[in-house]
Formats: sequence, C-alpha cells, structure tokens
Amino acid sequence: MRKQIAAANWKMNLTLEQGEKLLDDIIAKPHELAEHQQAVFAVPFPYLTMAQQKIASKQNVYIAAQNCSNKKSGAYTGETSLEMLQSLGISVVVIGHSERREYFNENNQLLAEKVNICLEYNATPIFCCGEALNIREAGTQNAYVEKQLEESLFHLSAEQLQKVVIAYEPIWAIGTGKTASSGQAQEMHAHLRSMLAGKYGNDVANNITILYGGSVKGSNAKELFSQPDVDGGLVGGASLNADEFVTIINSLK
Ligand code: PEP
Repeated sequence: MRKQIAAANWKMNLTLEQGEKLLDDIIAKPHELAEHQQAVFAVPFPYLTMAQQKIASKQNVYIAAQNCSNKKSGAYTGETSLEMLQSLGISVVVIGHSERREYFNENNQLLAEKVNICLEYNATPIFCCGEALNIREAGTQNAYVEKQLEESLFHLSAEQLQKVVIAYEPIWAIGTGKTASSGQAQEMHAHLRSMLAGKYGNDVANNITILYGGSVKGSNAKELFSQPDVDGGLVGGASLNADEFVTIINSLK
C-alpha cells in the first residue's frame, strides 16, 4: 500500500515550551501507526532538535523542516542548508508551501532546485502545489497545478520522483476554514496521478503519496482520507491542537 501520512505544519507558531507540550500531549494520546502510515511534524527551525529528541523512540514518526536553502553552503545569511538538516537527523522538508511562494517569491524554478538538493541529501521533499481562488473560479486549476509539477518535478528520473511526496493544497482552502469537498480533492488527486502516469507510467504514479491540505480537521479527515487518491493530509491550524491532530492521525487509511 502507498505511504499514508498525517503531516503537521506548525508554521511560525508556538513558543519552545508550547511546542514541547504539544508534542508531549500528542505522544501521550492513543494513536497507532501501521507500517504504511507516518506522522510528520514540520516544526520551526529552532525547535528541530527538541522535536527530534521527543520522537526519538517512536516508530514511523518524523520531524520535518518547513523550508531549506537551494544552496549547499556559504555566505547566505539566514539560510539553512540540507547538510545542516542532515546533521540534525532531519530527513523530511516541506518545499514550496503557498505561503513561501506568495510572501517569499519562491517560483517553480527555485523550487526545482530545492527539490534537487533535498534528493541529493537523501531527504524527502513534501512538494506543495495548488491554485488560488481566482484560478479555481476560472476553471483552470488543472492546467495551473500541472505547470507547477512540470516545472519543479518533471526533470526528475522515475527513481527520484518516487522519493517525493506531493501535497495538493488549494490556496483558497488554507487557513480559511473552507475545505475542498472530498470530491474536489479526489478529482485533483486523480488528475495529478494520471498526469504522473502519463509521464512516468502507472507503477510509478501509483506509488506516489499525494496529500491533501486545506482546513483539514478531526471532523473532516476521515472523509477526505477515504478517497482513493488522497493519501493523508498536510495540516496547519488543526495540527496545533493535540486532540485534533491525533484524530487526524487516526483517520489515516
Ligand atoms: C497548511 O499549512 O499547509 C494548511 C493546509 O493550513 P490549514 O490546515 O490551516 O488550512
């Protein structure tokens, strides 16, 4: 079975103490991860070591960075390299979240470089894509998301692509409380998978984990994750609440 993932994105929230308590609370609540299931916590950079220590003995739980540099090392003040992340034991990185695309001008070409550097250092990129409301209203979302994948991922070999996790996150659903319906999510996920199949073949496409992100909550996770092409979620707001996030983990199929 394809990997199913509940990924928390804390964004720029929580103090160190609050982050520690949240992880303690989540770890203490009953949740079970089958062999094909994972929980991932994308925490702010200063908390990576703390978080890594908290989950050290946990099976199928990973700590992720929310971003990385496209450069290897050197005079890039404020940046964090893959080598640094690797030295902390971090092997998952969120790439191209819509907030980074919008507020930090990250474009498809730059994101291709970030994907490349993750793969070079054996880290799993969680590559985010998704359209804004005006694009959805114009009905051109499929072409828009296709271009994001083409320009950031389609230079990869089939072997490399299979190390990437894709997160479809319609921007109009992020942090708005307005979740895509399970039908809308399934439709885009199936479209992306068939696009991947067209380029890389069915076996590769069927192996790629595609997460949905956009106002996932404890109350809608099961319905969303039950869709055949939805392999879990990337979760912002609801990941800051232990009960909510544990319910989301327990909703993985
Ligand atoms: C996100 O941060 O990727 C996200 C989907 O946020 P939210 O769950 O709050 O919509």
